[in-house]
Amino acid sequence: MHAAVRADVLAALDRVYDSNWYVLGEEVTQFEQEYSQFSGVAHTVGVGNGLDALTLALRALGIGPGDEVLVPSNTYIATWLAVTHAGATPVPVEPDPLTSNLDPARLAAALSPRTRAILPVHLYGQPCRMPEILAFAARHGLAVVEDNAQAQGATFEGQPTGSFGAVNATSFYPTKNLGALGDAGAITTHDAALAEQLRRLRSYGAAHKNHHELPGYNSRLDELQAAALRVKLRHLPAWTQQRRQIAAWYDAYLAGIPGLRRPAVAAGAAPVWHLYVVHTPRRDALRQHLAAQGIETLVHYPVPPHLQPAYAPLGWRAGALPIAETLAATCLSLPLWPGLTEATVAAVASAVRAFCRE
Ligand SMILES: *Cc1c(COP(=O)(O)O)cnc(C)c1O
Repeated sequence: MHAAVRADVLAALDRVYDSNWYVLGEEVTQFEQEYSQFSGVAHTVGVGNGLDALTLALRALGIGPGDEVLVPSNTYIATWLAVTHAGATPVPVEPDPLTSNLDPARLAAALSPRTRAILPVHLYGQPCRMPEILAFAARHGLAVVEDNAQAQGATFEGQPTGSFGAVNATSFYPTKNLGALGDAGAITTHDAALAEQLRRLRSYGAAHKNHHELPGYNSRLDELQAAALRVKLRHLPAWTQQRRQIAAWYDAYLAGIPGLRRPAVAAGAAPVWHLYVVHTPRRDALRQHLAAQGIETLVHYPVPPHLQPAYAPLGWRAGALPIAETLAATCLSLPLWPGLTEATVAAVASAVRAFCRE
């Protein structure tokens, strides 16, 4: 991926170097406009990383101490940490075990008088069933904040993820579908007033130099990252096409293997395949079998947030969220990156098939 864009990215970095302007300048402004267009929103606010994007999004909505936010039980811990850093309490909702995404039918049971928002995560690049989540939120007066860190370019019924909620967060960590050359993130919204509030929050609470209206943060997208992201954003649709082709190859080559569950896609969802995740009760043994043949796999994520030491104070016990715990014990991410060939996919699939026959 990086070899193909090397000359263009280095030229962009040169341009920034020579500009002598490194934080919140022309590259960030241009990238924010281009990313807004890509996402179907009016405003993008570039920030330092995905966790800050989520935290600032919640802060801009006024969510804080005493509030509860509904989060997936099986997400990356950053989703929960953002709620914690805003001063609120994350309340887990179990996913649909087939798509691994937030199950709208389970939201009602998690509701309390303190619930203020829902934070759906488009896990593995699979869009959540947003119309049902938005309808539930509207019925109960809740805000929706999408965690779009893994799903840039995905759509549900034709609408881009990151454009459904009141204010939505994404990450450009290098391994994401749109990755920077370091840490970076962004917030997307249709609301001009929220965008203005977020611009203050990311830069010391000041809209104008030396006039600090609120106790803000220092979390700004820098010019070098924005310049690199502008180059890579132009390639993202083609890279997404490649990811979709690779997922289709996996689907074909892994069909009909007993004991192996392939990813399910919700009706209306057009995923961008950040990851291709299979499930098997013999996950660890399969992982070892593949590693012995030089095939690297990863586990996203082996321990759900409620069982992490960081969340011991909330008092969740093993067994409390059985769907998340089962998914964590059985999930395996197969190799997937733009440029992976059909022959390699076929070789990985035949190694998986050989193991499952044993
Ligand atoms: C990567 C990721 C984040 C956090 O992004 P950072 O830029 O690493 O802070 C949040 N949520 C999800 C689902 C992620 O995958």
